[in-house]
Amino acid sequence: MTILVDCAGDDEIASDLTKYVISLGHEAKQDNSYVLINEKDVKNILKLFIKHSGKSDYDVLQADSETVVLAKVLPIREFGLATCEICGYAASDEELFAHRRAHGIQLF
Ligand SMILES: [Zn+2]
Repeated sequence: MTILVDCAGDDEIASDLTKYVISLGHEAKQDNSYVLINEKDVKNILKLFIKHSGKSDYDVLQADSETVVLAKVLPIREFGLATCEICGYAASDEELFAHRRAHGIQLF
């Protein structure tokens, strides 16, 4: 089973994640800010990755049965910022417009 990890437009974290998953002996393939992982328990791998890389401000959200989102979770929603419905990323309206488009990239 292949799970798609959506890194919410962050190519760098997608690259780090791909290397980490491969180092654990699993199959992973990066496509821009997306990572395809051929493994059942992807959420657990992502939690290990967050711990391993010290990215404690990131969290894992289940988008649907085949997609999980790895994104920064802001503890306090700042006034004037809107949030992405898909992953909870908070930004100005303009930034969010570009951000939402990143989720719309069709891989398949
Ligand atoms: Zn998002």
